[in-house]
Amino acid sequence: MIGKGTKLYSVLRMKCPKCHEGDFFEGHPYKFSTMGKVKEKCSHCNTKFEIETGFYQGSYYVSYALGVALFIAVVAISFLIRDEVTPTSLMLTFLVSLIGLFPLLYTLSKIIWVNAFMKFKHKKELKNSNLVE
Ligand SMILES: [Zn+2]
Repeated sequence: MIGKGTKLYSVLRMKCPKCHEGDFFEGHPYKFSTMGKVKEKCSHCNTKFEIETGFYQGSYYVSYALGVALFIAVVAISFLIRDEVTPTSLMLTFLVSLIGLFPLLYTLSKIIWVNAFMKFKHKKELKNSNLVE
């Protein structure tokens, strides 16, 4: 199905974008004390996750896109399963789903953002690049 080496694997399993082995986040997205907190380095390949200061501010663009995608999904599902859809019911459904999914969207935006800048490396490539650095 979705194997190692694909960006989708790293995003869905929330693993290191380089080795796909170490965890990317400190904890579960719905654990509020560590919500969205990115680990300093990968526990497996020692890759530094914060490429530069303020790197994850760019993930707000991804977060915005995910919010728009959620809104479109809410509208589509509402028109499919309800007989009568009013603007008020639509906005309430969107707000409830946004509040419920906020921790997940927040963490997903960060891992999608970092995957745009880091490539998966096989074990051999990883060893060679670590020797150079
Ligand atoms: Zn790693």
